[in-house]
Amino acid sequence: MMRRATLFFAVAAILCALVSCSASEPKKATFTAMDTVMSVSVWNGDGVSYEEADACVAEAKRIVNELAAELSVTDAASAVFRANSGERVTLSDSAAELCRRSLRMCERSGGALDITVYPLVRAWGFTTDRHRVPPQSEIDSLLSLTGYDRVSIGDDGTLSLAEGTMIDLGAVAKGYASDLICDMLSERGVASAMINLGGNVRTLGKKPDGSFWRVGVASPTGGGNACVVEIGEGAVVTSGSYERFFEADGKRYCHIIDPSSGYPAESELLCVTVVGESGFECDALSTALFVMGFDGALDYWRQNGGFEMILLTDSAVYATEGIAPSVELTGNAPGDAVNVIKR
Ligand code: AMP
Ligand code: MG
Repeated sequence: MMRRATLFFAVAAILCALVSCSASEPKKATFTAMDTVMSVSVWNGDGVSYEEADACVAEAKRIVNELAAELSVTDAASAVFRANSGERVTLSDSAAELCRRSLRMCERSGGALDITVYPLVRAWGFTTDRHRVPPQSEIDSLLSLTGYDRVSIGDDGTLSLAEGTMIDLGAVAKGYASDLICDMLSERGVASAMINLGGNVRTLGKKPDGSFWRVGVASPTGGGNACVVEIGEGAVVTSGSYERFFEADGKRYCHIIDPSSGYPAESELLCVTVVGESGFECDALSTALFVMGFDGALDYWRQNGGFEMILLTDSAVYATEGIAPSVELTGNAPGDAVNVIKR
């Protein structure tokens, strides 16, 4: 009898453990948008029921899809496509805000970020995967149509582009979308969430058990992560030459364009990871710092601060002093120690 009771309590304890284990599993949605795989994981608890967590995940997906539909450069129905075709369009409040903030970042980055490089991105074949090296005359004539000062946005969201100018918010849209999702989740009372929009990671709060999130930085030479960074609430965004590129005549051309030359950005950097508070800023900065190259990125960080960064070359990993202690190298990392960048 005694043994039966013990068995009963043992089974009951295991069942309880299983139930509480499943209760700590997040509600997760994985979907494709903006040409990439995205996932949103929301933990319930502290007044947020399982059903609410489910509704949050659905709302997150709606936010991304709505923004993607408005900003697409290839969908003839999108506002940005129509503006790029010379039509006068009025953007939604959130797209207009993204555009205004992007223009400020273009200026702050000294033009390393430039939302008007789209004609060049297209000429190099990155929008169609029909890659080519355009002749210099074509690059020169397209350069004459670029420059973020050729874009203005009215208080009512009216977008005006100078003749022949086209915009592409692909360098900032995912980071911005991750912030919109985070705001929505915290308004709904969610305390713990992980948003991964194609490698643009944004976290809300800490993990449900109070520990830090561990975010992997993909190895630019393929195969798993080069390192893992531990963060509380914030954003981790990577831009790199290994994401989309092609080779011609033994040279590698990547999808990030240096707006000053019209050529794909070229430096010893394989990728730049920016860690900070805002997904938008990290996304804008990772693209801009990649264009600036290793020395330019260091100068920019020393002069502006407000964020941390991890730089990967083919032989070493560098991290700014505020984040370096939280960076753990994996077997795929170039080098065997983190080189600390000091102020
Ligand atoms: P990301 O992956 O966030 O670094 O963004 C790269 C994407 O932004 C590219 O695929 C282009 O669509 C666009 N892009 C390329 N170069 C630039 C640039 N210098 N400034 C702004 N957008 C760019
Ligand atoms: Mg970016």
